[in-house]
Amino acid sequence: MQSFTFHCPTEVVFGRGAENAVAEKLRAFGASRVLILYGGGSAERSGLLSRIEKNLTSAGLAFLVMGGVRPNPRVSFVREAIREGIAADVNFVLAVGGGSVIDSAKAVAHGIANPTVDIWDIWTRKAELTKTMPFGSVLTIPAAGSETSDSAVLTNEDTGRKIGLNTQLNRPVIAFMNPELAFTLPREQIAAGAADIMMHTMERYFTSVKETNLFTDRIAEQLLLTVMESVKRLLVSRKDYDAMSELMWAGSVSHSGLTELGRRKDFSVHKLGHEFSARYDATHAMTLTALWGSWARHVYHDDAARFAHFAAAIFGVDAGTDEERARAGIRKMEEFFTEIGMPTSLAGLGVGVLTKGAIEEIASAATANDTIRLGDFRPLTRADAIAIYEAANH
Ligand code: NAP
Ligand code: FE
Repeated sequence: MQSFTFHCPTEVVFGRGAENAVAEKLRAFGASRVLILYGGGSAERSGLLSRIEKNLTSAGLAFLVMGGVRPNPRVSFVREAIREGIAADVNFVLAVGGGSVIDSAKAVAHGIANPTVDIWDIWTRKAELTKTMPFGSVLTIPAAGSETSDSAVLTNEDTGRKIGLNTQLNRPVIAFMNPELAFTLPREQIAAGAADIMMHTMERYFTSVKETNLFTDRIAEQLLLTVMESVKRLLVSRKDYDAMSELMWAGSVSHSGLTELGRRKDFSVHKLGHEFSARYDATHAMTLTALWGSWARHVYHDDAARFAHFAAAIFGVDAGTDEERARAGIRKMEEFFTEIGMPTSLAGLGVGVLTKGAIEEIASAATANDTIRLGDFRPLTRADAIAIYEAANH
């Protein structure tokens, strides 16, 4: 078994009515003036936002509310929220929404705690992040796992870059998770969320580490099976509380690091996909399912036994050589993505068929002109990225 360090400090309040504990719990983290961030309006329409406001008011906590976070969250919004938060002297940032709002909240908390530094300099590692302020979330969509993760992703609309920042300072202090809050999600968002949850585990399952950490592997495999079963139930009935609960908790565990212990992060498909979110505003999880099969077919030879093991554990494929089972597993995963309505090629992102020049340009951006390698299972060069994009370009 490989050695590891694991520290996931986020307090999780899970179940019906979890959000009713917001004021009491935030106060315990020293909050007296809260900056609440939300997205395009779903939290307003559902009445969630006003319930949280009432909860805070009745407990005597002051707050400032800012809506307007968009999917693929923008650094311009974050900068504005940092200014507002500093002016109001807030001491807690609360995200009400999904990954986009939570990632923005992380950046805003960092920015408020470091008022002399531009947040994009922190994102591009020009400035080091050494402190932040407490932040948490009321989660409304099981998907990104940002509610417990050490990562956050921002888009700079001026440079067309979408970049993730990984640091322990990105770990929220608390997450309120009431599965009922996700009942208003459209089916496409439920499917996209499930796919992102799966990818967060799959991008830790296929790494260069050859030794197995049996328990880590089994958590990963059971997580995938649970998500696949739950999303199918939810696509039939969106208000299936038990299925939504399984999905929501799996989403948090998937990106908490628990399915990574003794392994590594690959996340090359995420990085290849971010280029499409940055350029075409494509939905995050759609970029992942559009590319995963092409990535897997490009790299599986490096460890066909691992892919064969995956095919057996997830799809019960146990006949044939490692090569044959590996390929069958990849095909079946793509069939599953198709079954839940997710794309398995770039055309499914609505970007049309890309020219050779466009693919080369995107591959150059993803690999910083071939100066960095993507991922860990096989660290991808620019040529690898081009081959994967080309294979998915239909
Ligand atoms: P999201 O972008 O936060 O939200 C997607 C859509 O779902 C929005 O239009 C939102 O509408 C809607 N929505 C959310 N909750 C809803 C509800 N209860 N009812 C109806 N509509 C609802 O989705 P996400 O997939 O959670 O986050 C994606 C972002 O997270 C991407 O930028 C991705 O790169 C990033 N990400 C971050 C991490 C991480 O660890 N930090 C990991 C993976 C991905 P409203 O705006 O109106 O609320
Ligand atoms: Fe993701």
